[in-house]
Amino acid sequence: MAAFGFFRLGRLLLAVAATPLAGSVSAKAPQLPQTAPVPQLNQQVTPPPPTEIPVPEPRPADAPEPPQATQPQNGQPNAKQPEPPAIAPLPPEKPAEAEPSASAPNPSEKPAEADKKEEKKILPDPRSAAIAEKEMPAEELACRRRLKSMGVDFVERKPERDTAVGCSIPYPIVLRTLGKSIAIGPEPELNCQMAEAAARFAASVIQPAAKAEFGADIKSIGQASAFVCRSRNGGGKLSEHAFGNALDIASFKLSDGKEIDVGPTPPEKEAKFLDAVRKAACGPFKTVLGPGSDADHSMHLHLDLEPRRNGGTFCQ
Ligand SMILES: [Zn+2]
Repeated sequence: MAAFGFFRLGRLLLAVAATPLAGSVSAKAPQLPQTAPVPQLNQQVTPPPPTEIPVPEPRPADAPEPPQATQPQNGQPNAKQPEPPAIAPLPPEKPAEAEPSASAPNPSEKPAEADKKEEKKILPDPRSAAIAEKEMPAEELACRRRLKSMGVDFVERKPERDTAVGCSIPYPIVLRTLGKSIAIGPEPELNCQMAEAAARFAASVIQPAAKAEFGADIKSIGQASAFVCRSRNGGGKLSEHAFGNALDIASFKLSDGKEIDVGPTPPEKEAKFLDAVRKAACGPFKTVLGPGSDADHSMHLHLDLEPRRNGGTFCQ
């Protein structure tokens, strides 16, 4: 190695001696390889040269000049490196099967599946940074006007946010009813958009489906979970419940006293009603899960308005 290096160095310095500019060494010395001498030039030109080689101008200052040896390829100074974007990218497309059931009858976690999901790269949800402005935005005010026009009874709730968990609901409301004739309980806390979607769905789908199947009106809807701020093990993707953007419906009560529970094996007429409701929910809601989707959703219908880049739905 050392002998080879000296041999190289000797030839190199011959080339240096033949030209005043070290930068043009490779161009003026055709018998040399194109690239090999350049890195060695920097380090070995500085010590005193071997005696038999005359070196007219051993100027180390010339050494850094060869562009292929020291210049960065793109020529960009490091100091002007652009900052990373301030806005986090949208959450990954992979939809809401990671959604937890906040008040599921069997709260047992499923470690195997949870671990699998947590291995995926989870990007922060930009909604986690949402905070309430001093004045309520126009779209929130308009949403509330629409709720009132539908006869929905609701009250305002103070903003809730937990930066550690990532949940945030800047303009929450608590629903007392879903319309003039449909109650909901226990009173769910939701964002206004989800509340409005639920109220419209109750009036336009659930009520007619109940009349068609049972000849009775829907009197009330039992919900199992709305806004829920809780940590997910391992920091997985946040549920839409963390933004008040999801509602779990567990039961329906009819005007004749009949009760219909969401479950894996409902009686035939109830199954027909539940299927109709569930199918019609896909569209007005962006995610629809229920019995058969997974064990977490065997006892309720999960409905949410998860924003997706393509505006698509995930219904299972
Ligand atoms: Zn849910």
